[in-house]
Amino acid sequence: MVRPPARQIDKRPAGSPAIYGALLAVALLFGVGIDHTGLGRQLDDNVYDFFFRHYQPKPWTTTSILLTIDSTTLDQYGTTGARKALAKGLDLIRDAHPSAVAVDIILAGPSTDDDPLEAAFAATHNLVLPCQLNGEKWEDPIPRFKRYAARVGQVHIEPVGDAVARYIELYKVTGDHSQADQRWSLALEAYRVSRGVDIVESPNDLQVGDVIIPANKEPSGYRMRIRYVPTSMAPIPRVSIADLATDPSKARLFAGKVVFAGVSDQTAARDRWMTPLSDGTPMAGIEMNANVYETIANRLFLTDAPPEAWLLAALFMVVAAGLIWRFTGGMTAPILSAALLALAHLFPYWLFIRGAVFPYVPAVLPAWLAMITAASWQYFYVRRRLGHSEAEKTRYQQAIHFVTHEMRTPLTAIQGSSELINRYPAMPEAKRKQINDLIVSESHRLGRMIEVFLNVERLSAGDMQLKHDDFPLPTLVESCVARARPLAERKQITVSVGALPTEEIRGDRELMEYAFYNLLTNAIKYSPSETQVRVFGSREHGRLRVSVEDQGIGMDQKEVRRIFEKFYRTRRAEQSGEAGTGIGLSIVEQIVTQHGGSIDVVSSPGKGSCFTLVLPVTKVQV
Ligand code: ADP
Repeated sequence: MVRPPARQIDKRPAGSPAIYGALLAVALLFGVGIDHTGLGRQLDDNVYDFFFRHYQPKPWTTTSILLTIDSTTLDQYGTTGARKALAKGLDLIRDAHPSAVAVDIILAGPSTDDDPLEAAFAATHNLVLPCQLNGEKWEDPIPRFKRYAARVGQVHIEPVGDAVARYIELYKVTGDHSQADQRWSLALEAYRVSRGVDIVESPNDLQVGDVIIPANKEPSGYRMRIRYVPTSMAPIPRVSIADLATDPSKARLFAGKVVFAGVSDQTAARDRWMTPLSDGTPMAGIEMNANVYETIANRLFLTDAPPEAWLLAALFMVVAAGLIWRFTGGMTAPILSAALLALAHLFPYWLFIRGAVFPYVPAVLPAWLAMITAASWQYFYVRRRLGHSEAEKTRYQQAIHFVTHEMRTPLTAIQGSSELINRYPAMPEAKRKQINDLIVSESHRLGRMIEVFLNVERLSAGDMQLKHDDFPLPTLVESCVARARPLAERKQITVSVGALPTEEIRGDRELMEYAFYNLLTNAIKYSPSETQVRVFGSREHGRLRVSVEDQGIGMDQKEVRRIFEKFYRTRRAEQSGEAGTGIGLSIVEQIVTQHGGSIDVVSSPGKGSCFTLVLPVTKVQV
């Protein structure tokens, strides 16, 4: 049995807020979650590089200089002559008194050219020598060199993912943490030695003299973003050892500077990486170390925003998008959305130029996703409502048309008959009586029609009092069947009445008759000729059931769910050629519910329908 739910189109809920909220939450999760994928991180990094290239910070004065072993130097000294070349370079700059010299050539084993280099190291003030991790061990300079080093610093710069070096770990430890051997980076050691200060560690920063590096202490080190010297500035000066040998006066450039000495030749340098500013040529490790030094020396730190900050920002974007589309209409929603999206796109850059790095994807993607979700939700929802009200309007117009047409029939009969009497005063008495009877019956019909429409309107407005008559069900059925018989006979339809319970019902007899008569006439209207309409009843669980069963056109389940809507007619009913308004059943449903009852419908297309009124019993007939 299909019990159609009570429907009222105009009281449809304004879109479920729970579903709307859930969709926005999915947008938020997806927008934020993508940052935990390789794709999200890669996009963040690419945008970071883009910002880096486009933002030209205020120029600063560099205090480092590169002493390079370039291809000309290597030509002169041979590929194995790097140590000899370095010894020569250090000798040449000594008199300029650089403030520190950091060497980026691994000196872990002996070679045949070590004597001059040892002598050069011995005479170099504030010397920082390199070390690197080899498996679980530090490869330090051989002791004859190491004893001249003020400090030993590690040279690792290892980009993750896409071979672009954006960070440096300011310390590294050997993998064996039981005897953790921690080494600071070469550039940090060069800074410390040149300034003669100490390094003080704390969980959220690293202090070197009066410089505080904002970075969290993590097992892998203090991660610091490298601020490369921008393209708008003069690059960090560099002098090759070959050049210096040709023109020793260039040594003055090294006066008071922190020197980074190492191999710059593209083919010979081992550690070369791309930077956010690279245009396809990687940067040698020695220059990267100089950039790390410049970042610290000039306090040009770029700090990553904490995850709570960007989660909060994403949440704000999603909530704002949701509210905009929920509570504004017309052009306001798209305008506010565009403003919000512009904000989402611009504020990471605004923060970047203030030294804070905000991941781009979680800033922008949740805003876009929420906007698209909210806009589509509202669009489809509004469209659906519009569709419903349009359909209702057309049905309503058709109904009005039908109603006026129906009412005009008795009215025309009344008008015509009255005119006849006026025009022929000497009309025979029998004829006059016949016309009078017609006028009376037609005006009653009109009156009843108007009465029913008015009653229904009042019923739906809730301001009608039902009458409380007690009447037996069989009498109601009999009078309706008698009225409907002529209709049935015209279509050669047999109406049979089976056993009916004899209990009385309490309620408005006129309205109950209207309801039952409606079911009966529908059964006749929507059945082909020479079929049967059966009326039967029963008593079940203290309720009376009275059914009207036909062998007519029937309906499918989808249609059954809609027939109680005002003005709804099935396609089969429309095609049957039977006149109808589609409001009869909505009235029937209202009448029956007002009486504390309900209607069950069982139907099958082409086979027939059975409408059952279920009503409460008031009195037992004895
Ligand atoms: P109408 O004036 O169109 O008969 P109703 O509100 O009485 O209006 O019925 C609504 C629609 O329900 C009908 O148009 C028809 O499509 C369907 N319907 C009602 N009764 C029957 C029935 N006995 N058999 C098939 N369809 C029916």
